Amino acid sequence: MAQIEIPLSSRKRIALVAHDHKKPELLEWVQYNKALLLEHEIYATGTTGTLLEQILGPGLTKLFSGPLGGDLQIGAKIAEGEIDLLVFFWDPLEPAPHDPDVKALLRIAAVWNIPVACNRCSADFIISSPLMTEEYTRLVPDYRAHRDRLNS
Ligand code: PGA
Repeated sequence: MAQIEIPLSSRKRIALVAHDHKKPELLEWVQYNKALLLEHEIYATGTTGTLLEQILGPGLTKLFSGPLGGDLQIGAKIAEGEIDLLVFFWDPLEPAPHDPDVKALLRIAAVWNIPVACNRCSADFIISSPLMTEEYTRLVPDYRAHRDRLNS
C-alpha cells in the first residue's frame, strides 16, 4: 500500500495513561523525565492527568477517566492526527472493565503507526531517542482507497 508522510515537529504531543496499579510507576517515570516532558504537549486520561498535574503543573490536557471513555478519546485524537506518542502503562495482571477500549486504543495506535510504550523500559528507550526533540516524518498507509470504498 502507498504511504503518506506526516511531518512531526520537534515538540511532540504525548498521551500518558496508566492503569491504577501502574500509576506509581508512571508517576516515578514522569518525575524522572519531568524536564524533558515539559518540552512537549501532554495529554492524559482523567485520573492519571490529575496525578500528573502535581508533577508537571496545570498545563496538560485532561480527558475523561479511562473507564468513562478517556482511552477512546485518546484513540480518536490519534486517528485525527493530534497525538504523536502514546505512553500507556496498562496492567497485564488485572482485568479492566474497559478492556475493549484498551484494545481499541492499542489497535488504533498500530493503525496510525504511533509509537507506543507499554512499560517503563520501552518508555525509557523512546524518551531517550534523539527523535524526541527532532522533526520527523511519520509514514502511514494511504487509506484513501479504503475511505473511497466506504463512500461508494
Ligand atoms: P485513568 O484512566 O487515568 O482515569 O485512571 C486510565 C485507564 O484506565 O485507561
